[in-house]
Amino acid sequence: MFILLYTISNFTIVPLAAKHFGRVPLPLRGRVKPLNIGTCLLNRHYVRPALRDVVMKSYQVLDSKYSGCTVNYLDAGFPFYNGFPLLPHLSHNDGRKLDLAFFYKDKNGKPLNDAPSAIGYGVYESPRGSEVNYAERCTSKGYWQYGVMEQIVPQRNKPDYIFDAERTAALVNILSANKSVEKIFIEPHLKRRLGLPSPKIRFHGCQAVRHDDHVHVQVY
Ligand SMILES: [Zn+2]
Repeated sequence: MFILLYTISNFTIVPLAAKHFGRVPLPLRGRVKPLNIGTCLLNRHYVRPALRDVVMKSYQVLDSKYSGCTVNYLDAGFPFYNGFPLLPHLSHNDGRKLDLAFFYKDKNGKPLNDAPSAIGYGVYESPRGSEVNYAERCTSKGYWQYGVMEQIVPQRNKPDYIFDAERTAALVNILSANKSVEKIFIEPHLKRRLGLPSPKIRFHGCQAVRHDDHVHVQVY
């Protein structure tokens, strides 16, 4: 009975109440959707209307170039109150921040519309050879949490999912060109590898976690 009432209220009462806090839910299905429906069942998919507009418009631009692509979102924010962090993300506490999954393709180059990690986090596109390696730098400074998700999340799908640099770079460039977007976090070695020019794309700091499994976007 609890599960039934919880689920019904999640999709009826909570979205209405969230309006009073200036939050709207991201779509549950379609071409912009949660990578994992658990994100929505736990009410972690609420954002300010401006951020939802950014995501929906970015998808439209992306779809005009890569028809049929799907933008999978990860954690956003809770529906109520500013300042209540969405653990483990300390900064996702005001509806202005959202994580998006990377794009992947299969070994034959066919675009995929999901990700190697069921939750979107923890399967990393690691630095190669001479690329700057913040995972090593941060861990050596004692920030044990920086790459900890790799030890928690199963890695068995990793060989079958090839990082789609082209579509991921396109998404980041579209997001960074949007006037409403304040900052984007992606691991520095990927910023360089993908040739992402925008000054909005910054390093998030060693106190955060690795961002070579997802893109963090936040609006003003
Ligand atoms: Zn984030």
